[in-house]
Amino acid sequence: MKKNFFWQIIIAFILAIIVGLFFGERAELVQPLGDLFLRLIRFIIVPLILATIVVGVTSAGDIKKLSRLGGKTISYYLITSFIAISIGLTAGYLFSPGKGLDIVVESEAAVNETEGFVQTMLNIIPTNPMESLTSGNVLQIIFFAIFLGIGIMLVGEKALPVQRFFDGLAEIMYKITGLIMVLVPLGIFGLLAPIVGQYGLSVLLPLIKLILAMLVACIIHAGIVYSSAVRSFGKMSPIVFFKGIFPAATVAFSTASSAGTLPVTMKNAQENLGVSKQTSSFTLPLGATINMDGTAIYQGIAVVFIAQYFSTELTFAQIMTVALIATLASIGTAGVPGAGLIMLTMVLAAVNLPLEGIALIAGIDRILDMMRTSVNVMGDASASVVVDASEKRREAEATAS
Ligand code: ASP
Repeated sequence: MKKNFFWQIIIAFILAIIVGLFFGERAELVQPLGDLFLRLIRFIIVPLILATIVVGVTSAGDIKKLSRLGGKTISYYLITSFIAISIGLTAGYLFSPGKGLDIVVESEAAVNETEGFVQTMLNIIPTNPMESLTSGNVLQIIFFAIFLGIGIMLVGEKALPVQRFFDGLAEIMYKITGLIMVLVPLGIFGLLAPIVGQYGLSVLLPLIKLILAMLVACIIHAGIVYSSAVRSFGKMSPIVFFKGIFPAATVAFSTASSAGTLPVTMKNAQENLGVSKQTSSFTLPLGATINMDGTAIYQGIAVVFIAQYFSTELTFAQIMTVALIATLASIGTAGVPGAGLIMLTMVLAAVNLPLEGIALIAGIDRILDMMRTSVNVMGDASASVVVDASEKRREAEATAS
């Protein structure tokens, strides 16, 4: 069954490329299939995140364990994001995609500036959690869910019905995810074929070095960082890991949304990678929102690219600033298509690079977005494997002593 599914995804990919190349822009016709799938997975996200995080927090049992879980998860996310940005910067310098480039920047391209770091952080706290739920503000929903969970733990007995309610809701959302998963190959086909049809070589070729730099950096990051993390800390063969997370990575690639991919990521982590529901329901929704290694890689490469295009040499201090700000920017990036491009303004502004640089990349950003989102999702999954293994070791030691 699983093998079948794997091949269905591969066939969907191949068909999408053939249809896209053959029909060009007319491949748009199959877009409704992609939209159908997108809407189906999006409708699960809000209740899934709310219920699973509440369950993740309450099943931790006490605040001490919760802080340990949170500490491990966030440390892993920060470390891997920092490695990612370093790989991105290195790839930027090695490939030098912005040197000698003669394309014109359309300065009228809309540049949306971000609200800045402090405001982005403050925005995590919802002033009205119901509004966060209806507008689908994931970070605020996570904040609300964590506190709901903590509240349930502190209240105890009287809050049990609420805990059971969320337990049930989480199970229901997992089941619905299972039903929708059948449509993954169809969704991939419907989303990818129009993209292949839309991007001709004339759009891609001038920036081919940038695309290659991104591809190589993503492969190196996943191949080295995630492989060694799951092998050394999770005691899992990297092949098992990459095979297990393959469906989620392909959904991420075609949707360019890690939040949208979350239901599939959770299912893959639990069923293919053996991650417990408790760990996955805490680490994955959090990761889909704050852990963006692919986005960090992208920001490193993009900054070097834009600096090169404008013939600006970045000083060592500026490079360090980029590393720091890009790590923070990747945390603040929402798991939706194109969010990384908007957050790039924050990094460019920090080192005084022209914001028009955004317009240089905008035309092909979708392609880079597909790659970075796959890495984002694999990064979240690797964290769930590592944290789960460490929790299980701890429990085993506790029962042994
Ligand atoms: N699309 C990415 C994601 O959903 C975020 C980004 O644009 O970098 O993970």
